[in-house]
Amino acid sequence: TTAELRALDAAHHLHPFSDTKALNEEGSRIIVKAEGVWLTDSDGNRILDGMSGLWCVNVGYGREEIVEAVATQMRELPYYNTFFKTTHKPAIELAAKLAELTPPQFNRVFFTGSGSESNDTVIKLVRRYFDIKEQPKKKIIISRRNAYHGSTVAAGSLGGMSPMHDQSAVIPDVMHIAQPYFWGEARQGETPDEFGLRTARALESTIDALGEDRIAAFIAEPIQGAGGVIVPPASYWPEIARICRERDILFISDEVICGFGRTGSWFGCETFGTQPDILVMAKGITSGYMPLGGVMVADRVVDVLLQGGDFNHGYTYSGHPAACAAALANLDIMLREKLVERVANDVGPYLKAQWSTLAEHPLVGEAPMVGLVGALELTPDKIGRTKFADVGKVGTMARDFSFQNNLVMRAVRDRLIIAPPLVISHGEIDELVARARKTLDATHAELKR
Ligand code: PLP
Repeated sequence: TTAELRALDAAHHLHPFSDTKALNEEGSRIIVKAEGVWLTDSDGNRILDGMSGLWCVNVGYGREEIVEAVATQMRELPYYNTFFKTTHKPAIELAAKLAELTPPQFNRVFFTGSGSESNDTVIKLVRRYFDIKEQPKKKIIISRRNAYHGSTVAAGSLGGMSPMHDQSAVIPDVMHIAQPYFWGEARQGETPDEFGLRTARALESTIDALGEDRIAAFIAEPIQGAGGVIVPPASYWPEIARICRERDILFISDEVICGFGRTGSWFGCETFGTQPDILVMAKGITSGYMPLGGVMVADRVVDVLLQGGDFNHGYTYSGHPAACAAALANLDIMLREKLVERVANDVGPYLKAQWSTLAEHPLVGEAPMVGLVGALELTPDKIGRTKFADVGKVGTMARDFSFQNNLVMRAVRDRLIIAPPLVISHGEIDELVARARKTLDATHAELKR
C-alpha cells in the first residue's frame, strides 16, 4: 500500500536535493507509471508532468521502441566498456549520429553517464588542451552565478549556486560572473539590450582583470535552466560570442537542458547563434530512459588533444551499450516525428501565446517562453519589479498548490518553471496553462488572507 511504501521510504532513503526529515513527515508522492505527458501516482492521481521529469523526458513516457531497443541490446551485449582498445556497435553508431546532429564543428564525442560527469570531463579536457599547447597557466574557467552544471564536487564548483558551495569544498580556478537576469538584476531605467551588453561585458572585464593568459574557458547554458529559466536579452549572446572569438579562450555550451529540441533547435547554441568549442549533453540524449551523457569536442580542439597521447579519464559506464541503444532509438523517434520542428513551428508558439497571457496576472512579473521551456516570475509588485522579502517562500507555496492541482511545476526562488515533453498536444497545453492559472489564483488568494 502507499502507506507501507512511504514508511519504507521514510526509513531507508536519503533523497537528493531534499530535506529528507521534512519530506518524511509529509510523506513523499510515489509515482508508479507514466504515459505521454501524464504520471500516475500510487493513489491513482493523474498528474500532468510540466517538467519532463527533470527536464529530460523529451519524447514523452511509454515509448515502446526505446524499451525494445534496450532489451534487444541487453540480450546481445548488456555491457562492455570503451576503454583501452575496445568499443562496441551502439557506441560507434551513436557517436556518428551525434556528429551528424550537432553543429558542423563537432565530430567527436566523449561519453559519460550523466551531466555532472560530462562537466567534470570538460574541466579535465580543457586543462589537457592548454597543457598540450604549452599554456599551462591557462586554468581558470569562468561560469555564472546561479548556474547549475551538476552535483559532483567539480561540477558543483563550476555551478554558481552558493547553497551548494556552502556544503562542499569548491575547487580552485573557477570564477563566477553575473547571470543575464534582466527582470531581477537590471538597473532602474536600463533597457534589456543595455543590460544584456553590460552583463556580457563582465566576461571581458573579468578576463582583463585576471589576465587572458590565465583564462581557459567560459561555460554557460544557452538558457539558464535550474537557475530559473533565465532567458538572456537579445544583445547578450552576440556580445559573448564576440568576446570568445577575440580572446584565446574556449567557449563551452552546457546543453544538458537546452539540447535535443528543448529551445526549438537541436541545440540551444543554434537558437542563439553561438559557436561553441565544447558542447555538453545528457538528459534528452536518451529522454531519460537510460543514464547517459556526452561531451562533443570541436575539431580544432580535437586536433590538439590527439597530439597529447593518453587522456587519463573515463567511466565504467562511458558509452554503456544499453544506454547508447536507448539514445539511438530516442533520436530515431525525434527525427521521424520531427519533434524539433514541432517545437519550433507548432507547440512552441502555441504554448508561448497562451503562456504570455499569464503575464497579466497580478502576481506575475514576467512570463518568458522559448521553445518549450518557460517561467513565471512571481512578484508582490509587478510595476516596481520588487521581490518577496522571504525569498523562495511564495514560489514553494505556489509549487505545492500546483502539485496538489496535479501539475508538476518547479520553483526556483520565486520563479515557477516548466519544460514539458516535446510531444505535448494542444489540448494538453490548454490544460497545463489552465492549471498554472489556477495555481496563481490559489497563491494570490492565500497571500491576501
Ligand atoms: N548541466 C545542466 C545544465 C543541468 O541542468 C544538469 C542537471 O540538471 C547537469 C548539468 C547535471 O546533470 P546530471 O544530473 O545528469 O549529473
